[in-house]
This record gives sequence, C-alpha cells and structure tokens, in this order.
Amino acid sequence: MTIHVRTVQGAYMLGEETVLLKALEGKRGQPDQRPPYPTERGLFGKPTVVQNVATLVTVPWILVNGTKRFAATGSATSPGTALVHVRGPQGDGIAEVPLGTPLREIVGLLGRVPAGHALKALLVGGPSGGLLPPELLDTPYDFEALREAGAHIGSGSIIAVDERACVVDLARLLTRFCADEACGKTIPCRIGMRRLFEVGERIVTGHSRPADLQLLTDLSHDIVASALCDHERLATLPLASGMRYFRSEIDDHILRSSCPAGVCHPIVVAAGAAGRD
Ligand code: SF4
Repeated sequence: MTIHVRTVQGAYMLGEETVLLKALEGKRGQPDQRPPYPTERGLFGKPTVVQNVATLVTVPWILVNGTKRFAATGSATSPGTALVHVRGPQGDGIAEVPLGTPLREIVGLLGRVPAGHALKALLVGGPSGGLLPPELLDTPYDFEALREAGAHIGSGSIIAVDERACVVDLARLLTRFCADEACGKTIPCRIGMRRLFEVGERIVTGHSRPADLQLLTDLSHDIVASALCDHERLATLPLASGMRYFRSEIDDHILRSSCPAGVCHPIVVAAGAAGRD
C-alpha cells in the first residue's frame, strides 16, 4: 500500500470535508452544497471517502477486539472513546476518555481550580464551542448530551476558566475568530458573523444599544437558518450559550455598565473587582 502525504494551505475551515478536497485540488477552500456527497463525487470528481485520523485510529483496535467490545465502551448512543485536550488555570493535557464521561471527571484530571478561585465556565468544543456553567459539570461528554446543552465535541477541546475571566469578553473574542475564519461564500455568515462580533464589541466597551440583545438573538437565528456549512451553525454558539447561561453577566455590562470580572474597559469596574490584572 502506498501512502501519499500532501501539505495544503491551512485554515480552520479545512475540517469540512469538501473544503479539504478543494484544497487538495489546489482550489480556494470553500465548501460545496451537499448532496452530492464526496462518496459520490469527491476529489477530482471521483468517489472519495474522507475520514479523520481520530476515526481511523479506532479501526485496528476494533479489528483486534471486536465490535461488541467497542460498543460496550462509551455511552449507548456514542460508543468508543475520544481524545480530549483539557486546559485550565492549572495547566493542560490530553486524555483519552470513554464517550459519555461526565465533564466533571475530565476537568478533574487537571486538578483543582487554584485556591481562592471558583470555576466559572467550560468552553467545550473549541473556538466555536459552547460556554457551559459549573451547574452542567455532570453533563456526559458525548455528541447528544453536548448538543442539547448548547456545545459540541468539535475540535475535542475543553477550556476551564475561573471567575477572573469575563464570559462576555470571551464570547466576543471567539466570535471574532469565527468571523475571521468564515470562508465568505455565504452572505449571512460573511456579514452576519461580523455584525455579531460588533454587537459583542459594543457590549464590552459600554456602547451597547437597547435593541442589542434582541439583535443578537435574531441575528444568530438567521445565521443558523441559512447555514451552508456547519461553521455557520456552530460559530454562533459562544454568544448564544453566553446568552443562555450567563445572561446576568451580559445584563451587568449592558444595564449597569459593569464587568463583574473587572476585565472589560473602559466601562466602570464592579466594586470588589478593581485592581485585578
Ligand atoms: S456558512 Fe460561512 S464558512 Fe460556511 S460556506 Fe458559508 S461563508 Fe463559508
């Protein structure tokens, strides 16, 4: 068997299979409407199977141990294991865990949150992931449970932040990243993501408008409804999950010109938070 390794121009969007195929053909990395799926018309118009490394590495194990043992690992709807990159105030590491493992156990691998600080949020799924509150620490790390909670497995990363982080500012930065990485093919994504970021920017700088919360909701809905690829659907998650679980912190910024974490400037810093870096 011959294995060819090709280096292609990198971008976040390469995780989408039709973008990867375009890049391999030397074309601009933009997704195609599916169907037809690559298994019907893929690389250079030929039927192509696209698999990621995480899937392929399970094949030898299944061949040796059998499908029953594989299915017995993980949760009922998401069998198998997952590699998770966990990062927190205490450091980071990579672990292989059975799917369905509670978030609490995965984050616990990093040790405790530094003394004097409390866990505030988990960013689950990478830059286009969801921000989940500590109350959801018992959520199983699998496809269905995370989707229901407003996150996803995505890039396999979990970032734990303590109360020194501002969730609104974090959501704004993640939205900026997602807007920058959008390929530009679909107008609601190309322009809508930029507008979403601008709303987040207004909120953290104390320039929000009365209609901004409604605008965030409507814009996110419209962007998701017109999605050509998953990037568009997932890119709204940081702000959408922020609205869902950290609404009081957003209200603090908008209604009281106050950032409880003392991160956002130049708006007024909440009492007790002044002096933090
Ligand atoms: S939804 Fe966004 S990332 Fe996806 S094809 Fe359209 S512009 Fe590109």
